[in-house]
Amino acid sequence: MDQNILKSKLETALKVGKPAIFFGEVATYIPELRNVNKDDLGISVYTKDGVCCSVGDCDVRFTMQSISKIISLAVALEECGFKRVFSKVGMEPSGEAFNSLVELDLNSNRPFNPMINSGALTIASLLIPKFTFEEMLEYARILCMDPDIDMNEAVYKSEMDHVSRNRAIAYLLESKGIIESDVEESLSFYTKMCSLNVTAKSLANFGLILACDGRHPETGEQLLQNEVVRVIKTIMLTCGMYDGSGEFAVHVGIPTKSGVGGGLMSVVDNRMGIGIYSPSLDPKGNCIAGRPILEYLSQEFHLHMFDHQDEKE
Ligand code: GLN
Repeated sequence: MDQNILKSKLETALKVGKPAIFFGEVATYIPELRNVNKDDLGISVYTKDGVCCSVGDCDVRFTMQSISKIISLAVALEECGFKRVFSKVGMEPSGEAFNSLVELDLNSNRPFNPMINSGALTIASLLIPKFTFEEMLEYARILCMDPDIDMNEAVYKSEMDHVSRNRAIAYLLESKGIIESDVEESLSFYTKMCSLNVTAKSLANFGLILACDGRHPETGEQLLQNEVVRVIKTIMLTCGMYDGSGEFAVHVGIPTKSGVGGGLMSVVDNRMGIGIYSPSLDPKGNCIAGRPILEYLSQEFHLHMFDHQDEKE
């Protein structure tokens, strides 16, 4: 991929995404998340052939929030195995909001998938007997190729002060015998993971590792097993944007995970990772500028997973 062409397309993508910001809102249910600049917008791309290109506010640090669910799922699959993980959490889209507990209470004996809060709290409960938070932080730094990732104490504290809903979900999970570890520890571990501070660049890096089936693009080191990455990418496609996943898959066609901090991480299989930061969210809690930006890039570079235009040319 030519660096100059990529740069100019990304500059255009910024312009395509900017107007949407006005129509969204920053998350306020975690009060500390109010303290961001709603107009920030950054896009970062890192391709398999080694081209890195970033435009806009791509060095601004923000909390990973639900994108951290990918790290936790990856580590759980690596260390606890598929059988154990998927005995506790399903792999079906829930069709409900990320913080819903209705379908868990009424229809199911396990969370629908690991991308919604009930699923991620369950994954956290599997990880706490095996890993300290510091070890998970180290995983995050390696997978994002970003040694500066740290926990944002203010956001962590703010979320823990307003965590009633997740606490309710966690105790419901315990009542159903799904969470077997300490509930409060699971809750705190999950919230710490959500509070990791990243940039759009770190998300592009992580996206590229997933695009390369778990291999570090520079050293060639296999950081995650192939099969683990395949599962993750599939779940990102079907559940990564919560109850907006189907429409997003149709229009964009790139497995993507969102977080209420305003981040998006996209994986263009075998080609590139894309990181976006823009804290203005749509009503489903997904970065509102992300959809037009990714739709534009998807069209320009034929990135939709079912677009085989390049092979036809
Ligand atoms: N920490 C947030 C929560 O549990 C993460 C949600 C999100 O990013 N969608 O509500």
